Amino acid sequence: MADTYLELVNTPLPGRIARALGLPRPAVLRRYTPGEVLAPRPVLVAGAGAGADALADVLLGWDIEVRRHVLPGEKLSAAIVVLDRASSPTDLTGPLLELGQAVKLLVPGGRVVALFRSAADTTDPAEAAARQGVDGAIRSVAHELRGGATGNGIVLRGTATTTDPTTLGALRFLLSGKSAYVDGQFLEVTAVSADGVVDLAATTGAEGEGIPDQPLAGRTAVVTGAARGIGAKIAEVLARDGARVIAVDVPAAGEQLAAVANRVGGTALQLDITAPDAAARILEHVRGRYGALDVVVHNAGITRDKLLANMDAARWDSVIAVNIASQLRMNEQFLASPVFSESGRIISLASTSGIAGNRGQTNYAASKAGVIGMVRAQAAAFDGGARTINAVAPGFIETDMTAKIPPLTRQVARRLSSLQQGGLPVDVAEAIAFLASDAAAGINGQVVRVCGQNLVGA
Ligand code: NAD
Repeated sequence: MADTYLELVNTPLPGRIARALGLPRPAVLRRYTPGEVLAPRPVLVAGAGAGADALADVLLGWDIEVRRHVLPGEKLSAAIVVLDRASSPTDLTGPLLELGQAVKLLVPGGRVVALFRSAADTTDPAEAAARQGVDGAIRSVAHELRGGATGNGIVLRGTATTTDPTTLGALRFLLSGKSAYVDGQFLEVTAVSADGVVDLAATTGAEGEGIPDQPLAGRTAVVTGAARGIGAKIAEVLARDGARVIAVDVPAAGEQLAAVANRVGGTALQLDITAPDAAARILEHVRGRYGALDVVVHNAGITRDKLLANMDAARWDSVIAVNIASQLRMNEQFLASPVFSESGRIISLASTSGIAGNRGQTNYAASKAGVIGMVRAQAAAFDGGARTINAVAPGFIETDMTAKIPPLTRQVARRLSSLQQGGLPVDVAEAIAFLASDAAAGINGQVVRVCGQNLVGA
C-alpha cells in the first residue's frame, strides 16, 4: 500500500501547505543503491583522544573528507561523535554541543553516529552515568532530526576499539543507505579475532577497494516465509549479496514461492515450519544441493489478534506454534547437525510489539518477546565461538500484514515514528543481510529495531 501522503508532501505546493499548517513532512529516505558513495560531503568526527584520532584516520583512508570541528555553513554527510573516554557526565558537554551545531548542517538523509563504551562494563557510578548518558542524548537527538536523517550508536563492549573491523563494519552499515529505517538504535560490538573463520579484513578497506560487492558470496541461506512480504525481500537482498537462497513457505503459497525462488536464482522448499521434521527436511535439502548451511532467517510469522479477554486457545496456540515454538525446535536440530556451519548465523524476526506490547496482541507479543529471550540465551551459549544469533524487530512495515489495518489507524501509525513514515520490506532485509555478513561478526545476542524510532512504547 503506497504512502500517498508522503508522496504528496514531497511535491512543492502541498509541501509548502504542510509546512505552513505544521503537519508532518516525512522525507523520502536515502536507501542503498549498488555503488553508493558512503559520504559525498565531509564527515565530522567530534570528540578527543586516541580512539577519535584513529577513527578519523580510517575514514580518511575510505576517501572521506574528515573534519574534527564544524566549519560554519559547511554541509555534512554525517556527524560521528566519539565518547569512548567519557568518565563523568561533564565529559559529554563539549562533544555533544558540537554535535548540536553539526546536526543543523546535515544533508537530507544525513547520519549521526555515537561511539561509546557500555555502561554495563564499568562499576564506577560516574563512568556508568556518562556512558548511559550518551544513550539518552542520542535517542533524543534522533527524535529531533529531520529530512530523513537518523541517529544511532555503536556500543563498544569489553576490549573493542573504535577501529576494530567489527566496529567499522557496524559504522559502514549505519552510514550507508542500508540503515535508512534504523533509528535510535545501539549496536553492541565485541572485538573478534580474525582467525580464518571469518573474513574481517573485508570491512576495513578503502572506499571501492576491499569491500566485497557480494559479502555473502558462497554462503547458503534459508529464509522461511519467503513467498511474499518481508521474507520475499530478504531472499532478494541475500541473493543480491551473493548468497544461494533456499526459499521456504507453506505448500498453499507454492506458486508465489516458486516465483521468488526463480527470481533470486535459488531453490524453493514447500513445508510448514511447525511440522516436527521441518528442520530435518531443510538440512536434507541443503546437504543434497549445497553441502553446508550458513545462514538461517526465521521470518515466517502470523498474527491472530484478539483482546486477551476474547482470546481462544486456537488463536493463542497457532501464533505460539509458528512464531516461536517452531524456531526453538528447528534451532535445536540445526545446531546438532554438522551441516550447520561453524560460523553460522541465525537471524530471527521479532517485532516492536514484543518489546512495547500492543493492544490485541498478547499472543503475538508473547511469541515475539519469546524470540528475544531465545536469541539472548542462545547468544550466551555461542559466546566465544564464530556463530552468532540476533533478532531484528520491525516496527510498522508496508506489507500485506499492515495493509489490513483500517486506513485512518494506518495513517496515524505511519506518522508515529521519528521518520514519520512506515518502513519498507527492504529496510528489514538490509538489516538482516548485514547481520548475516562478516562485518557483523562481533554482534551477537542483539535486538535491532527497524522501526524509524517508533514513538509508541519502547
Ligand atoms: P506476511 O504475512 O506477508 O508473510 C508471512 C509469510 O510466512 C507468508 O508467506 C506465509 O505463508 C508464511 N508462513 C506463515 N506460516 C507459515 C508456516 N507455518 N510455515 C511456513 N511458512 C509460513 O508477513 P510479513 O509482514 O512479511 O512479516 C514477516 C515477518 O516479520 C513475520 O515474522 C512478522 O511477524 C514480522 N513483522 C512484520 C511486521 C510488519 O509490519 N509487516 C512488523 C513486525 C514484525
